[in-house]
Amino acid sequence: MAEIEVLGGGIFGLSVAYACQKRGARVHLIERHTIGAGSSGGIIGALAPHTPDNWNAKKQFQFESLIAMQDYWAEVDRLSGGHSGYARTGRLVALPDARQLALAKERVQSAQTFWRGFAEWSVIPDDSVTGLAPKSATGFLSHDTLSARILPRAACASLAGAFQALGGQIILGQSRGRGADALVICTGYEGLLDLSASLNRPIGKGIKGQGLLLEHNARARPQVFADGVHIIPHENGTVAVGSTTEIEWTEPTTVDAQLDDLHARAVEICPILHGANVLERWAGVRPRGRRRAPILGRYPGREGVFIANGGFKIGFGVAIRVGEVMADLVLTGRAEIPDSFTVEANL
Ligand SMILES: Cc1cc2nc3c(=O)[nH]c(=O)nc-3n(C[C@H](O)[C@H](O)[C@H](O)COP(=O)(O)OP(=O)(O)OC[C@H]3O[C@@H](n4cnc5c(N)ncnc54)[C@H](O)[C@@H]3O)c2cc1C
Repeated sequence: MAEIEVLGGGIFGLSVAYACQKRGARVHLIERHTIGAGSSGGIIGALAPHTPDNWNAKKQFQFESLIAMQDYWAEVDRLSGGHSGYARTGRLVALPDARQLALAKERVQSAQTFWRGFAEWSVIPDDSVTGLAPKSATGFLSHDTLSARILPRAACASLAGAFQALGGQIILGQSRGRGADALVICTGYEGLLDLSASLNRPIGKGIKGQGLLLEHNARARPQVFADGVHIIPHENGTVAVGSTTEIEWTEPTTVDAQLDDLHARAVEICPILHGANVLERWAGVRPRGRRRAPILGRYPGREGVFIANGGFKIGFGVAIRVGEVMADLVLTGRAEIPDSFTVEANL
């Protein structure tokens, strides 16, 4: 039985550890602080697809992850007794001009081709939706039935519980260098900085984001995207609003006036949110690879060492597939990883 050490208790480390444990490996997950201490311990939880056009390996990879989620999270929650908050509730996107409207209409057809009947894309009048819905300058919205939502913190806790229920071991603190057969490094943006330093190349960095959680009950309504703002209703009677994108930052977890601006824009988009209590203001640092795609594969020059990183803005959306392909690679030596995701492609 292979013995695997996974470093990092975010959604990537947990997904890889769970997939390896499920396949019969003996897995130790080492997390320096607590499960979900990094960007995975957030509050937003949008699982939204790329647009169904200009199809490429990254879109296919994310699509495969999204369509596997329903069964995956049901099994994880069953094993752990936890609750990830996963539900496929769809998404409404404002179409601000004639070009966006025309593109949205073309995607009705291309969604049929690329989403292969798993989900639909339609264009609907904005006055046909009430409650948590954006107005749009063209009077139309796109609606897809592939987008889903999850409670990031609760999902990490549930996945950690499922991993342990299968016999996996979580160790909080430093790696004790147990001499495992393989080491998989999933240490978020800090891991990208370490990798860049050790390879002497800018492989990736941390991009900060801030978001907030409002008290508003829109439980099963579709999420909304307009003017760069994501508005995500969760089943527990909250609505998450995300997120800023900050390339330059000094404090990884502090919030500031940029979040007030985001809040004001969310209320402008969905006036029904006016006056909703603010339950939490949160910030984290997303791991972004040089090519803005996941970085998955062997650690150059280090036998038995692997990397899973670069989730950037869609880490939860791709995590299931990341776990699967990394378990394939680590345990069998072969995996269907897009060429553009390898460490070498990011050098
Ligand atoms: C504001 C914001 C909003 C977001 N919204 C969404 C969204 O709606 N949908 C979506 O899919 N994604 C979203 N993301 C992105 C998503 O959160 C990330 O892509 C994902 O969390 C990355 O997971 P990770 O496991 O790679 O990294 P992390 O979650 O950062 O985990 C890395 C872990 O490694 C640990 N660690 C570091 N060094 C060591 C070490 N040496 N030894 C042991 N442990 C170590 C850290 O403590 C940390 O727990 C958002 C991110 C932010 C910041």
